[in-house]
Amino acid sequence: MRLALFDIDGTLITDDGAARTAFGDALVAVYGYDGDLARYDFSGRTDPQIAYMILRDTGLSDEAIAAKLDAMWDHYLTGLARNATADRVRVLPGMRELLAVLAKRDDVTIALLTGNLERGARLKLGPTGLSPYFPFGAFGSDSMHREELPPIAVARANAANGQHFHGRDVVILGDSIYDVRCGVPHGATTIAIASGKTSAERLQAENPSHFFTDARDTEGLVSAILGS
Ligand SMILES: [Mg+2]
Repeated sequence: MRLALFDIDGTLITDDGAARTAFGDALVAVYGYDGDLARYDFSGRTDPQIAYMILRDTGLSDEAIAAKLDAMWDHYLTGLARNATADRVRVLPGMRELLAVLAKRDDVTIALLTGNLERGARLKLGPTGLSPYFPFGAFGSDSMHREELPPIAVARANAANGQHFHGRDVVILGDSIYDVRCGVPHGATTIAIASGKTSAERLQAENPSHFFTDARDTEGLVSAILGS
């Protein structure tokens, strides 16, 4: 039995900048941010990590950032609900087919492992119809450090399924170097898919267990996930 943990942005979907717009608007509204967000790469980072990365650069202390973070998330999620519409959020090629195949199998459980706040994850997946595939997961609202998310996802999977997933039976799929890196300390199987903003070369340099240019090779991905 394997546990397949899916990243969202750049892996399952692309949102045509919807989250970035909502994030920027919230930074302006709550912190009076007036910088240029374009120079920041959000790939693989958790939502809290992104907020700290940007706001520390403006000279704010961690205490000052933390004090307004709840208000920031309120603004962000309200903006995301407005922006993450069906015409902007698109499922990446091959993912619908892969999930349909995995959902029919009884030797794999699927869940989310994402830097998104849980509510944000649901807002992004909502218009795609993919959300029901993922009854649980680990989120940026559980920890700001991605490498702490695999054990959280595993604990929830164990509780939900009465399984004891560990080591290589935990499979992490993502489009960024941080997806690969968060799996390494836990001995997980890592599958890098170059469907996001990170180049194939940069992903391969992380030595993932498996590498795919996109998710269209359903058969190849299923066998990588199952270790067969
Ligand atoms: Mg990603």
